[in-house]
Amino acid sequence: MHSGNESVEFVRNHRQYGQYSSFHQSELSDFNAGTVEKRLPSDEYRHSQRPFRYVVYTLICSQPHPDIGDNEMKLVSTQSSIATEANIVCQRNGKCKWCGSDKVVKAGKDSKGQQLFKCKECKHRFIDNDAPPRMRTPSKVIATAMELWMDGLSNRKVRRNLKKLFGTVRNQDSIHDWLVKYSKMSVDFVKCFQTHTSEVRHADETAIKVKGVDHWYWFVMEHDTRFILSSHLTEWGRKDKHAVQLFRDAKRMASYSPKYIVTDKLAAYRAGVNRNFYSNTKPRTEHINRIGFVKLTNNNMIERSNGVIKDRLKPMRGLKNIQSARILLDGFNLVHRNFLTVHSAINTTPAKACHIDLPIEDGWADMMKWATYWQNAKKPC
Ligand SMILES: [Zn+2]
Repeated sequence: MHSGNESVEFVRNHRQYGQYSSFHQSELSDFNAGTVEKRLPSDEYRHSQRPFRYVVYTLICSQPHPDIGDNEMKLVSTQSSIATEANIVCQRNGKCKWCGSDKVVKAGKDSKGQQLFKCKECKHRFIDNDAPPRMRTPSKVIATAMELWMDGLSNRKVRRNLKKLFGTVRNQDSIHDWLVKYSKMSVDFVKCFQTHTSEVRHADETAIKVKGVDHWYWFVMEHDTRFILSSHLTEWGRKDKHAVQLFRDAKRMASYSPKYIVTDKLAAYRAGVNRNFYSNTKPRTEHINRIGFVKLTNNNMIERSNGVIKDRLKPMRGLKNIQSARILLDGFNLVHRNFLTVHSAINTTPAKACHIDLPIEDGWADMMKWATYWQNAKKPC
């Protein structure tokens, strides 16, 4: 997407006012053929706080700092997408409802006289109805329930809508079971993908109630793709171990360490960053937790993101326990928001912005299908 020339132009522009050197050496090498000056060592930041602050302001607010003038800051993201084994699953488009294989043969009839099929690859027998494996309800109904719930409807309202749309009556417990089952399956599946784009990450925590008890919900988000790398629901009390775990999960989802991590002043983040990103060699990950930046971040991206989570949580008072809350919140943030929701700021889904090549045309129906195939095709991941 970004041509070499654009990137060269970008570096030139930004050398005029700041020592912007957040490129990784590998990225620079593409367009480093003599025209671009070598990047400056990051030590220079320490002696020139002003340009550094401007760059971070621009990164966070997605607009030039007023003192900088017309120069437009563009984030250059590396273009290579990390293909994983999970992509191979998505090539499967056969008849087998378990693994997506097309090596399917007829295999007699069941007691009700329905045609049975057998998959030669995964050895499962199945009826060719529209339901996912081991389910009686059609995929369309379950996917619609997922879609409606993730969009903010309560279980009761989801039930009412399903009755209107499909004429099916299910009790709220089975709707809850679908939500948990397919959220978990999809979360496990999407954790196979890796992102390789952003240089700035934000981490934040927000207080939420599960069954009337206060909990903390933590998450890490990439700046320019809005991709949520990890999320974590913990009991009350923000401890070092929670932040360490949060950043460890984020590290697993992204292929390299970010240049900056922006957080609030909470001491646990310091421990989390140090434990996961401490390095003796350059480039190092810089942890930004100054008060000025906290205001900027809170007023912008992260605050909005917290708002989205809180909106979803309002009708969630009926959550049964902390385990299902954890799964559903992950399903909402790591699957629904990352893969199935177009983010207005970037005009695409965060997963597409990260170049994750997962064909999704029909929202949760497709996500459930790929997750099922992935689980049953037993591809290493
Ligand atoms: Zn199969």
